[in-house]
Amino acid sequence: MGDCHGCAAATIARPPVQSRRHIVAIVGPPNSGKSTLFNRLTGLRQKVANFPGVTVEHRMGRVKLEAGREIYVVDLPGVYSLSPRTEDERVTHDVLCGTMKELPRPDAVLLILDSTNLSRHLILAAPVLSLGLPTLVILNMADDLERRGGDIDSAELAMQLGSPVALVSAAKGSGVDKVFQFLSGTTLGAAAKPPLTELPVIQDIPKCRAWAASVGTKTNYQAPAPPLWTRRLDALFLHPIAGPAVFLLVVIAVFQTIFKGARPIMDAVQTAIQSSGLWFGSMLPDSALRSLVVDGIWSGVGSVVVFLPQILLLFLFIGILEDSGYLARAALIADRTMARFGLQGKSFIPLLSAYACAVPAIMATRTIENKRDRIATILIAPFMTCSARLPVYILIIAAFIPEKPLLGVFFGTRAAALLGLYVLGFLAAILTARLLKSTVLRTSRSSFMLEMPPYRWPTVRSLGLRLVDRSRVFLRRAGTVILAVAVVIWVLAHLPLSGGKTPPIEHSLAGMIGHTAESAIAPLGFNWKIGIGLITSLAAREVIVGTLGTIYGMEGTSQSVGLQQALRQDLTPGGAAALLVFFAFAMQCMSTIAVVRRETAGWRWPAVQFAYMTVLAYACAFLTNRVVSIWF
Ligand code: GDP
Repeated sequence: MGDCHGCAAATIARPPVQSRRHIVAIVGPPNSGKSTLFNRLTGLRQKVANFPGVTVEHRMGRVKLEAGREIYVVDLPGVYSLSPRTEDERVTHDVLCGTMKELPRPDAVLLILDSTNLSRHLILAAPVLSLGLPTLVILNMADDLERRGGDIDSAELAMQLGSPVALVSAAKGSGVDKVFQFLSGTTLGAAAKPPLTELPVIQDIPKCRAWAASVGTKTNYQAPAPPLWTRRLDALFLHPIAGPAVFLLVVIAVFQTIFKGARPIMDAVQTAIQSSGLWFGSMLPDSALRSLVVDGIWSGVGSVVVFLPQILLLFLFIGILEDSGYLARAALIADRTMARFGLQGKSFIPLLSAYACAVPAIMATRTIENKRDRIATILIAPFMTCSARLPVYILIIAAFIPEKPLLGVFFGTRAAALLGLYVLGFLAAILTARLLKSTVLRTSRSSFMLEMPPYRWPTVRSLGLRLVDRSRVFLRRAGTVILAVAVVIWVLAHLPLSGGKTPPIEHSLAGMIGHTAESAIAPLGFNWKIGIGLITSLAAREVIVGTLGTIYGMEGTSQSVGLQQALRQDLTPGGAAALLVFFAFAMQCMSTIAVVRRETAGWRWPAVQFAYMTVLAYACAFLTNRVVSIWF
C-alpha cells in the first residue's frame, strides 16, 4: 500500500449513510493527549473494544451535543505516521481509509498534536490531511505552550493546512468548546475533499518532515524552551558517567527496599494467614475436609499471597520511575548498551515491561516493525525477571542467605543476591540476543526515536490504579491456578488409600511422581518435593511456592516451623542456589508459551525457545550445584 489506494475503494464501499451514526476519529502521536481529550468529550459514556482480527484496542464513546444529538468518537492508537509498518499504524491507517471491518469510515477527524512538540508532531498532519476527511487540527497542551513561552500563529497554520485549527488544553478544558463546535458541524458521510496537492504523499517521511519544517517556519512556531530544572536533571541523568551511576543507585535502593521495607508488612500478612488458617481449622472437625482446607488450600495459596507486599512495592517503584519521566532517560542510557548487543532501542520498552510479566511484553513487541528484531525480542523477553519469580527468589534467599550489611544499612547481602538474579536474567537476555542477531536473525540497526516526556510528579491516582491492577492479577492467579494446583496436589498426596488411611506423602501418588522426576533432577541438588514443584510450576512459576507450601503443610512442618525453615532442613546450599539459577533461566510459564505461539503464528519459535531455555537452565543449575557444593 504505497499510497492511499485503499481509501478510494472504501469510499465507494461505505454503507448507506442513514443506517449509521456519525463517527469521528481521534488521531495523534502517543502522549499528545488523545485519552485526556477523549475522556473530556465522552465522560463515562465509553467502552473499550478490540478491532476484529487484531489485538490493538480502541475506545469508542458517545459525545452529547446540543438538541439531544449524539456523535460517536473513536480513540485510535497513537502513531507518528500512517505508513502501515507497525500494527498500530496499520490499524489507524485502515480505520481512516474505511477498510477496517465492522467500522464505517469516519465522517471527520480530530487530529491532536502536542503544541509544545510541534516540529515532530506536525509531520503526522501531512498524511492525515491528505486523506481528505474534514479535520480539526487540535494543538493541545496550549497551557504548557503559553506557560513556557512558546508561540504559534494558529490562523496562519489554518491557512497553510487548509483546515481549522484550535488551540486547546484538554487537561484544563480551555478551547474544548471549539471541538464541540466542530463536532456539531459534522455531517454524515461528508464528501471527501480532494487532497491538497502540495501535501506530500503518505509514505514519504523525509518529504513530510521537510514540509512540516517549512510550515513551522511560515507560522512562526516557537517551541517552548524546556524548563530549567528539566535541563539540569537531564544533564545529570543522561551524563555518560553520572547517568549510569545514578541508575545503579536507584536500582540498589529499589532492591534494598523490597527486602527491608516490605518485611514488616510481609510478616504481618504471614501471621494473619497462619493464624486465620489455624482458627479456621479449629472451627472444622478433624476430617479430610479440614486437612484439605488448612494444609492444602491455606498453606498452598497462603504461601504465595504473602509475597503480595513485595510485588506491590516493586510496582510502586516502577510506577514512580515511569510516571516521573525518569524511565525514559534510563531507556536512552540503556540504548547505548543495547546497541552493542545488536538490539534496537524499540526493544527496550517491551523488555522493560517484561519485568512485570513476559506476556504483555511479548504483545508490546508489535511496535517493532522489523520482523527479525521482533522475534529476537520475543525470544529473550522471558529471561527478564518477571514478578512471578519474585516469590521463589525471596523465599529461597531469605531461607539460605543470612542478612549482612554490604554498604551500611543501604545495601545488604539479600538485596544483593536478589539484584544479582535480576542481572543474571538480563545477561542471559542480552547474550542470547547477541547470539541470535549475529546468526539466524541478523539485521542492520535502525535509528531509535524515544520521546523524552517532561519530568512530572507521579500522581497518587495513577500509582494507585497500577497497584490495584497488579493486585488483581496476582490474586486472581492465587485464586485460580494456585488454588487448583493446591487441591490437585492435596488429592494426589492422599492417594492411594490403603485400608481407608492415607499413605505417608512419600508413598502417595504425588510422592511417586516426585520420585520419578528425582533421577533427572538429583544432579541439580533437588529432591522429590522440589520435583513436584518443578512440574506444577510449568503452569506458572510462583505455583512452586504454593506447592511446597501444600507439601510441607501436609507433613505438618509448614505451619509450625515455617516454609523457610523446612526448606533449610531439606535442601543443600548447592541445591538452593541451583534452584534460583534454574528459575532465572527456565521458561516455566504456559501463558508465555501460548502468547509466543500466537504472536509468531506457529509452534516453531515457542518450541525452540522452550528447549533452549530449559537446556540452559538445566546446565547452569547443574554447574551451580557443583560449584557451590565445593564451598559449602
Ligand atoms: P495519549 O497517549 O495521546 O492518550 O495522551 P494522554 O491523554 O495520556 O496524555 C499524556 C499526558 O499529557 C498526560 O500526563 C496528560 O495528563 C497530559 N496532558 C494531556 N492534555 C494536556 C494539556 O492540555 N495540558 C497539559 N499540561 N498536559 C496535558
